[in-house]
Amino acid sequence: MLHILRRDPGRKRKVLIVEDSEINIHYLTVIVGREYDVICAANGQEALDALRMQPGNVSLILLDLIMPVMDGYEFMNEFHAHPEEYGIAPVIVLTADREAEVESLRRGAADFIPKPLDYPEVILARIERSIALEEDSRLVRNNERDPLTLLYSRNFFMEYVRQFDLTDPEVPMDAAVIVLNRFYMLMDIYGRQFIRKVLKAISDELHRILPETGGLACRSDPGCFLMYLPHREDYDDICSRLAAIIRDVTGNTRVNIHMGIYQNVLKSLDAEQRYERASLLCYDNKNSYKTSCYYYSDEVHDKEIFNERLIMMMDTAIREKQFVVYYQPKYVIQGKRPKLHSAEALVRWVHPDMGLISPGIFIPLFEENGLVYRLDRYVWSEAARQVRLWHDKFQKKIPVSVNVSRTDIYAPELENELSDLLTLHSLDYDDLLLEITESAYTDDSAQIIETAKKLRDKGFKIEMDDFGTGYSSLSMLTSLPIDALKLDMSFVRKMLDSPRELKLIRLILDIARFLNIPAIAEGVEKEEQCNLLKEMGCDLIQGYYFSKPVPPEDFEKLIQKELEAA
Ligand code: C2E
Ligand code: CA
Ligand code: CA
Repeated sequence: MLHILRRDPGRKRKVLIVEDSEINIHYLTVIVGREYDVICAANGQEALDALRMQPGNVSLILLDLIMPVMDGYEFMNEFHAHPEEYGIAPVIVLTADREAEVESLRRGAADFIPKPLDYPEVILARIERSIALEEDSRLVRNNERDPLTLLYSRNFFMEYVRQFDLTDPEVPMDAAVIVLNRFYMLMDIYGRQFIRKVLKAISDELHRILPETGGLACRSDPGCFLMYLPHREDYDDICSRLAAIIRDVTGNTRVNIHMGIYQNVLKSLDAEQRYERASLLCYDNKNSYKTSCYYYSDEVHDKEIFNERLIMMMDTAIREKQFVVYYQPKYVIQGKRPKLHSAEALVRWVHPDMGLISPGIFIPLFEENGLVYRLDRYVWSEAARQVRLWHDKFQKKIPVSVNVSRTDIYAPELENELSDLLTLHSLDYDDLLLEITESAYTDDSAQIIETAKKLRDKGFKIEMDDFGTGYSSLSMLTSLPIDALKLDMSFVRKMLDSPRELKLIRLILDIARFLNIPAIAEGVEKEEQCNLLKEMGCDLIQGYYFSKPVPPEDFEKLIQKELEAA
């Protein structure tokens, strides 16, 4: 027997009365019907049938315990076991038996209404309170977890981390971050469904890992997960496990993750700060195609702070002329004696407190932060001024090569800026040579080729720096607008010990000959290296064997010496 007694088209909530006594049904329907839509069922089975027809539509169930066909206990077992089928709603048990209350609670009842039935106001108040409680906790439930991965959402996770610490303050804990590399690029290329599949695979694996490790996890940003685990050492294994799963579900080796781990977190740091530390290195190389694990350490922290300081100090440093340009000579070695030919301008940072800082430290940092262009412009201008000065002082042309950073090539007015500099100092195009590292060509060949062409159309000469590290293809090389090849130092460093390296040098010198451009070897420290390179047909040499990079005053001594030898 299932009667729908009232249906209000308004936004009334629905209450299901499960009761076999006609008198009680009537009484309850009248009272409850004042505030709610009412559905009635004569036993547990009818109630389940009614709920199955509209899961989630019922806000509360009033349940008698003793009924034919299916009693109240059995109903509660079935109802609570299958929320996906019947929905979730608080159950208020109607009973005259105090002992039944305990058993009902065990089976998930939210409250009781004693029989014989009480004042209408009391009944309505109990119903209202139970519905309000359930709706509040549903709100929490819905926001607590990320619907796709069923992991905690970030805010709840952070709160649970705090609670975890309060309950177990002595347990050493680790904070771990998992980042899906190139997230938005993958989304663009493979689409949303693909990304969801990958994220689901990661989270499924996290659901498997958590029972083994203890701790908790959440989905933080769209492509990022956080874990808070009792301290352990096997993160490399966890990382490989995740990588393997991703490979399995995608069949694609270009989809990968970075994992950042901050072990034995300082509990005095707040949760957010711990994850900042864990992710510090995680976002480095985020465009990489490799899965890697990064561990936070005090050194990493200090380095990060140091880098931050360098970035902050850059403006002042330029203003106060703390950047000093050194010059390292390049010598022509073919011929009777080596002759001073040109120089490379190499910047140094002479910091008032920190002393001399090597460009190997700050240049990559400034490249990353888009600051390098300003510094390079300063160096170019210093170098141009210096070339003019030497020209006037010694009546001798000493061309100087300047480094053009991989990010400078995106500056829209690069060629004009550089040629203005020449005009300003009355220099020719072959007075200021441009070194561009080979890897810039392979990183973004379209842009670099366009920029290099523009520069050469103006008249500039371009030297390809660090050649042999960037994997240019032979066919690419022949079409590249370049005027000289600079062998990467690593070849020269190993040439005396490794026949393979020697062979590679020979090969590169052949390529230069084929392209009909001079080859320059740098990092030459020994006479033996110099002689061998000369024998193999290398044109120019730069290295400690002749001179380290030196300040302009010292470089003048080299010019003087050259003039005297000539
Ligand atoms: P690079 O352009 O490949 O410069 C050559 C580096 O090798 C210089 O290091 C130089 O001092 C060093 N070197 C030269 N000969 C020898 C040798 O015989 N043995 C050894 N062990 N090293 C030698 P440095 O001056 O520390 O510069 C490092 C890098 O920083 C440069 O590599 C270049 O990429 C970058 N850099 C330096 N100055 C500038 C600049 O003004 N602008 C830009 N964008 N980059 C610069
Ligand atoms: Ca260089
Ligand atoms: Ca180089």
